[in-house]
Amino acid sequence: METENNLLLLLQNPDLPADLKHIAEKVLHAERITFDEGVLLFEKGELGYLGVLANYIREKRHGNKTYFNRNFHIEPTNLCVYDCKFCSYSVLIKQRSEGWEYTMDEMFDIVKKYDNEPVTEVHIVGGVLPQYDVAFYSELFSRIRAHRPELHIKALTPVEYHYIFKKAKIDYATGMRLMYDAGLQSIPGGGAEIFHPEIREQIAKDKCNAEQWLAIHEEWHKLGARSNATMLYGHIEKFWHRVDHMERLRALQDKTGGFQTFIPLKFRNQDNQMSHVPEVSVIEDLRNYAISRIYLDNFDHIKAYWAMISRTTAQLSLNFGVDDIDGTLDDTTKIYSMAGAEEQHPSMSTKQLVELIKQVGRQPIERDTLYNVVTDYTDFKFPDEVKPSYYKLPVIN
Ligand code: SF4
Repeated sequence: METENNLLLLLQNPDLPADLKHIAEKVLHAERITFDEGVLLFEKGELGYLGVLANYIREKRHGNKTYFNRNFHIEPTNLCVYDCKFCSYSVLIKQRSEGWEYTMDEMFDIVKKYDNEPVTEVHIVGGVLPQYDVAFYSELFSRIRAHRPELHIKALTPVEYHYIFKKAKIDYATGMRLMYDAGLQSIPGGGAEIFHPEIREQIAKDKCNAEQWLAIHEEWHKLGARSNATMLYGHIEKFWHRVDHMERLRALQDKTGGFQTFIPLKFRNQDNQMSHVPEVSVIEDLRNYAISRIYLDNFDHIKAYWAMISRTTAQLSLNFGVDDIDGTLDDTTKIYSMAGAEEQHPSMSTKQLVELIKQVGRQPIERDTLYNVVTDYTDFKFPDEVKPSYYKLPVIN
């Protein structure tokens, strides 16, 4: 296996410092790295070294398989009662006229628009407003389930759940059970930002804290359901804050096994209260993916949102631990474009996504939300690629 050879070659390099060599040996023997080793990787790990380690793990788990799904987003509102400093998306309630607030029927109309499309997932996430409460979301989820039972509902983050359960005066276990019974099937990874209070209080101080975020996921996992986790990196946090963040996720995953995917989210600095903070480089993005892959040994998948980091970086990331590049999106999300992502109308056809993955020698697999294979596109020919083997001549009587 080429990736294993690369790792063995790296281990023979006499110039490799002993501490980095020790980590590489651990990776070769599938041993967990420690908190301090995680910090060391951020401080000393060069891109080439990290790539060899992360790609070894990625290919051992998934070979060349690279996942994507066909989905669309509903963003109920861009108004929010919170005021996260990094957020380019929300408009404060006092500027209400500049935002949007979909009604139940408007959201349901978006779902119906996709009735004849082969999408497998609806991803619902947006700002936090009082009218979107437990009753509202319960009804929305039930209506979607009744209308299209096979469409997987992945919706809301602990930021919304904490807010609506508190308002309804119910605990997390009761609240998550209610959502589950209404038709919710998965929770996306958002709202995690950086868990450590030293940073969280500066960038997102009013919304749910780390313990609350983790507790909601834990209750959800207890129901046998799955969720994802994110980390907003590349702003005012130090490397050890990133490792602390991943450590808390790794610990909960040891306990519940309910996380599917870790998604590092790059901080973008357009039109927010942290515009003075420079963005990190592509090299740092790739290093961060790689270290995530190495550190989170109990997460199956590492995902890169192509819409956030650009198509070419998404392709590169597949050599740095990433095995999932998200979905077709169909220009239904504004979260990335409003934060300054290059993709201003993120949408890719299945064919484009497949080509993007094939161009870098990987195997495109369309998955559903739970990573069941929908279609393996490895040898798939799209209709306009199939050359007719003969030409029909007109019949002359
Ligand atoms: S990040 Fe989320 S919770 Fe924070 S202001 Fe933006 S929409 Fe609201």
